[in-house]
Amino acid sequence: MIFDVLIVGGGGAGLRAAIAVVEADPGLKVAIVSKVYPMRSHTVSAEGGAAGVIGEGDTLDEHAYDTISGGDWLCDQDAVEAFVAEAPRELIRLEHWGCPWSREPDGRVAVRPFGGMKRMRTWFAADKTGFHLLHTLFQTSLRHQEIQRYDEWYATRLIVDDGRVHGVVAMDIRTGAIEALAARTVILATGGCGRAFPFTTNAAIKTGDGMSLAYRAGVPLKDMEFVQYHPTGLPFTGILITEAARAEGGWLINKDGYRYLQDYDLGVPTPTPKLRSMELGPRDRLSQAYVREVERGRTAETPYGQVVYLDLRHLGEARIEARIPFVRELCRSYQNLDPVTDLIPVRPVVHYMMGGVHTDIDGATPIRGLYAAGETACVSINGANRLGSNSLPECLVFGARAGAAAAREAREAPAAGERAVRAQGADERRRLEHERDRRDGGAERIADIREQMQETLEEAAGIYRTRDALDKAANRIAELRERAAAARLDDHSTAFNTEMVAALELSSMLDVAETIVACALNREESRGAHQRSDFPARDDGRFLAHSLAYRGADGGPRVELLPVTITRWPPGERVYGR
Ligand SMILES: Cc1cc2nc3c(=O)[nH]c(=O)nc-3n(C[C@H](O)[C@H](O)[C@H](O)COP(=O)(O)OP(=O)(O)OC[C@H]3O[C@@H](n4cnc5c(N)ncnc54)[C@H](O)[C@@H]3O)c2cc1C
Repeated sequence: MIFDVLIVGGGGAGLRAAIAVVEADPGLKVAIVSKVYPMRSHTVSAEGGAAGVIGEGDTLDEHAYDTISGGDWLCDQDAVEAFVAEAPRELIRLEHWGCPWSREPDGRVAVRPFGGMKRMRTWFAADKTGFHLLHTLFQTSLRHQEIQRYDEWYATRLIVDDGRVHGVVAMDIRTGAIEALAARTVILATGGCGRAFPFTTNAAIKTGDGMSLAYRAGVPLKDMEFVQYHPTGLPFTGILITEAARAEGGWLINKDGYRYLQDYDLGVPTPTPKLRSMELGPRDRLSQAYVREVERGRTAETPYGQVVYLDLRHLGEARIEARIPFVRELCRSYQNLDPVTDLIPVRPVVHYMMGGVHTDIDGATPIRGLYAAGETACVSINGANRLGSNSLPECLVFGARAGAAAAREAREAPAAGERAVRAQGADERRRLEHERDRRDGGAERIADIREQMQETLEEAAGIYRTRDALDKAANRIAELRERAAAARLDDHSTAFNTEMVAALELSSMLDVAETIVACALNREESRGAHQRSDFPARDDGRFLAHSLAYRGADGGPRVELLPVTITRWPPGERVYGR
């Protein structure tokens, strides 16, 4: 069997892509390979909402401008223009497929403000937007019998020959069977890589597998130095308290009860009279302000690090229950407090990867037949800092575009190269069986190496970075990679061998980690989420450009620069809330 389009990933981007393929041509053979059941993809946990211009007075240009200035001018503006134009259409399509968007009393779709967005344009389904969005896509995909699913299959390698993709090799986690799946085109929709850091909002499955698959096959990873810290995670668990809590009017205060953001430049021109918009500054600036508060001794000490507080008490129980009930539920279950009466301790937490697999505006990568969409891809619309609520519509818009483009290509592409599929499948089977059997490695365990990698990244590639720390991290990651290859596996069984999966995921994260560090070292400026203490200013002369990290001949990364596409908005200062 040769699939026309094989999609790796069953989250928002993967499911949307699959539907786009069958809509384009129901005769095409489509498969989704997903390491978890699709409804367990991370998309399910999105809370706040999805941006798309709808309200009176709002314009596509304003959404584009907010996105571009929020991204500190590193976004490709042609991609942003396509994105803002198609986002509302996608959100309405979802409505027709059954997504229960929250409503105003008069029946219109309700929108809320979101960080860095000048207008209210964030659609939401209470604070369970991702759940409803993913459910809607999953239901819709079930209507199309022609979409074949490989649930709980783990893709380990892309089959590439002569510059064209011919399928993937994947392992059935349930049985341990390893199979080569032939395909004319492949779409990577594998999500982000927050798990490479110790403290993250991301689900355990977000380990950068798709980025690593592409990188090993020769596709560059783009803008990997841009890692988003969300300013409000619960200490210890890292569970996200959605930006919707601040959009509904929540305040950030320090240990003295003072709304400290008024002391910082958030790009909001007149913060004091506009107290409400202060908490809705962009995520990078808010996370940086937290670090400064720690330095000034104005944060509170807890067993899980320094915290500031999110104050929702003035909103009242009725509003909290109506608009952000899940926030209350999370606080009660995981922090044993009630936001109606108590302050919520919070600190910045790794949330999102702006960087990813280098693609064009249709999701195409430099390898023929290979596409990427969603968080694993870098199109790029997020530049140096993603605005909240732009990611879900990104999955829809670029999932659909990649699906349509792959469907077009599949109709013309040659049949998958049988020889390459057989040979590379056999090769990968040998490698994985050997991996599963390795018993006599050193005493080290996968989990210990993973922890050291996470700490290395947090120290060197956290909210602030320096050359010294990054240099050390690069050496350390190379050393961890060698140790990971020699580590011991205790589980040699074939059925549900989760230790083996953890080993594969660790090797993906190490690939991603080395590109983050290499790109951060190369970018000698500060822009968006990438802040170099030794180069504090933005340097458009040298770095109005994307970083492209290629896997070099020696196995280590090699970084090149690619100019940003500017259409109508020349680089300026970042200004919000006008
Ligand atoms: C807590 C939280 C809240 C968020 N809230 C919002 C919000 O309100 N608004 C917003 O716009 N964005 C939000 N985001 C960001 C947004 O949800 C994600 O960026 C987006 O959902 C990613 O979707 P995706 O389809 O790219 O990947 P995911 O939903 O992460 O799905 C990845 C898929 O790839 C599969 N996969 C991965 N590796 C492999 C492999 N090796 N083999 C086989 N399958 C594999 C997985 O099984 C999964 O199906 C939030 C993120 C988090 C973590």
